Amino acid sequence: MSCTCADVMHIMDSMFPERYAEPWDNVGLMAGDPDAEVKKILLALDANATVVEEAIRMGADMIITHHPLLFHPLKRIDTSRGTGKIVSMLNKAGIALYSAHTNMDVAQGGVNHALAEVLHLDNIAILDKTISQRYMKLVVFIPKGYENAVLKAMADAGAGWIGNYSHCTFRTEGIGTFKPLEGAHPFIGQKDRLEEVAEVRMETIVRQQQLEEVIKAMLAAHPYEEVAYDVYPLDNEMETAGLGIIGNVHQPMLLAEYALYVKECLKLSGLKLVGRLDKPIGRVAVCGGSGGDLIDKAAAKGADVFVTGDIGYHDALKAEEYDMAIIDAGHYATEHCVLPKLALGLQKATDTLQYNVEITVSQKERDPFVFL
Ligand SMILES: [Zn+2]
Repeated sequence: MSCTCADVMHIMDSMFPERYAEPWDNVGLMAGDPDAEVKKILLALDANATVVEEAIRMGADMIITHHPLLFHPLKRIDTSRGTGKIVSMLNKAGIALYSAHTNMDVAQGGVNHALAEVLHLDNIAILDKTISQRYMKLVVFIPKGYENAVLKAMADAGAGWIGNYSHCTFRTEGIGTFKPLEGAHPFIGQKDRLEEVAEVRMETIVRQQQLEEVIKAMLAAHPYEEVAYDVYPLDNEMETAGLGIIGNVHQPMLLAEYALYVKECLKLSGLKLVGRLDKPIGRVAVCGGSGGDLIDKAAAKGADVFVTGDIGYHDALKAEEYDMAIIDAGHYATEHCVLPKLALGLQKATDTLQYNVEITVSQKERDPFVFL
């Protein structure tokens, strides 16, 4: 089945909801036509000239990056250099560009989960919860025989999703009563006569933000003129996301050994290290990209070492004060590990929907830093 750029955007949003992005961020479609057909997608951290040239050579219709190309408002589009040149290259080649940045940092299956997975951390938890999602309970009374149509409409609008499960509901059967009054146009029954109808009470959960859409879909699919339904606020926090991950190593080791282990897992030619080489390492915090702002959180949660990128001099001094080691494995390597995982996840999602799409991780993109 053919797939459009908008279809891919929809899948990406279900994996890394755009609403999770920081307010200062710019995520989503950077350039391109949402209605254009997509057959080949190239994944990269950045849409630089090398990556766009690779996409043109391989005949890709879409590039998905972690870092947004457009971040600060453009005052002019100079097509000879910088961002203007990239936008022009994309436009001429008819390639769409989509970015998932801070939403991919915080979401399950995003950058930090990929980094924790590559380092084989156990018992992982979010280091700094920044997003918690409230759910509501929605109960609706449906005449027997119409429950599946109503369920489908509600589930398609986002109701009944728990983790990796959709269409989650619970049903009980009973008798509904009503008396149609003057002016009513009843689906069942007659005016001024008390009716008893076999009904199903169907209950499900809905994200607070999707409640309005779900109720609209439910009312449209329900056969009754006046639909009886209840909305209850729930106290359970069912979905959390946030920055960084903390977990345990399989086997405790010394910092020197652990640094070599990280080097091997991330296929690095070098890294920077803060801390005593003989420090025992059991608990590890990770944050892909620039994690300097999470040093206090990592130390407070008892991390023996914090694996991240872009660590500055004063970050290193702060970590020393906490007696917490730091492994600076670089911005590129600590984020790049999400791309193979994204390729697999996206391929699985497009295959499930029977879209004819091929997804590849860039072979040309490189870490700009080298070690001498
Ligand atoms: Zn980054």
